Amino acid sequence: MSKKGVKKRRVAIPAGISAKVLFLSDRTCCVCRQSGKPVQIHHIDENPSNNAIENLAVLCFECHNLTMLIGGFAKKLDAEQIILYRADWARIVSFQRMVEEKRESEFVQADDQIDYVTSTAEALRENKAYELLAMHYNTYGGIDLRDKYIEKAIRSGTSAESELFLRSLQGRADLVPNEKVSEIISRQQRDKSYLSLGRTYAKINDWPNAVKHYCLGIAESIDGGNQFSAAYYLKELCDAGAVAKLFELELESRSKIGDLWWQVRCLEELGWNSELDALLVAKRSEIEASNDLLLLPKLYLALGERKRAITALKTQAASADRFSSADRKRPRGGSDKKRRKS
Ligand SMILES: [Zn+2]
Repeated sequence: MSKKGVKKRRVAIPAGISAKVLFLSDRTCCVCRQSGKPVQIHHIDENPSNNAIENLAVLCFECHNLTMLIGGFAKKLDAEQIILYRADWARIVSFQRMVEEKRESEFVQADDQIDYVTSTAEALRENKAYELLAMHYNTYGGIDLRDKYIEKAIRSGTSAESELFLRSLQGRADLVPNEKVSEIISRQQRDKSYLSLGRTYAKINDWPNAVKHYCLGIAESIDGGNQFSAAYYLKELCDAGAVAKLFELELESRSKIGDLWWQVRCLEELGWNSELDALLVAKRSEIEASNDLLLLPKLYLALGERKRAITALKTQAASADRFSSADRKRPRGGSDKKRRKS
């Protein structure tokens, strides 16, 4: 029988279901995850009358377009990929909610909080929701139980994304096989899902790539006029300690090549004062021999020789005007030398 002329009938999604889908996805596209961007509910099997919750995913208009584009022989974003993105995103949303709930529950009475924690865990156990149980115990401090449920979840067969997520709760992303990590990265790269890539790289401790992809996603948010998303991910990146991580990496590579000045600058930015003093003292003869105007006062301060530090700072101050005065208008007919003397 020819399919021609058979049009799939659109049936409006019942309000209760669409509310639940939006809740699970935090009103955010599960692929690009740019918070605050307008979204719609997508039917994964492309049958607009199939409103089963398993068939629905929240997508922004741009990512929805990818479900219709053909790249090579396949769709740019097919059903299987959307299901993976949706599961991965739902996991992140649930985890962030648990952390938020814990913060809120601290304001209620201790007894009520204990009751809340145990009854939530019971309900999750009944549903054999191992992944959520692991997150639950991670949030409420039951480390042994968290590890027990991480093992159970992984043994019961999880996606590569789930395994990486769970292992990174333990700080053990290194336990995830390399081919699984590459699988995640190549999927996210293909779909230009920069913010997801940023998070993936952060989990595997690849900070230069984490910062690069967070920034690409943040730039995309700004270009799209979406300041909320830009601010949200910028905050997340800073809270994850990305700034210090980059200074630490730079410090490591400068130490390897013995570049003293940039080691000093990294240590200053990191606020690692005792390491800084120890380095300067160890390099004392090198610094004194070089007569380095910037390093000398730092060295004397590290040595506790205040008078010599002040003399060195004065020399530094006296030299400061050399370049900045060079753009001053020269007096007519007079050379720079003459002007300085007057
Ligand atoms: Zn999107």
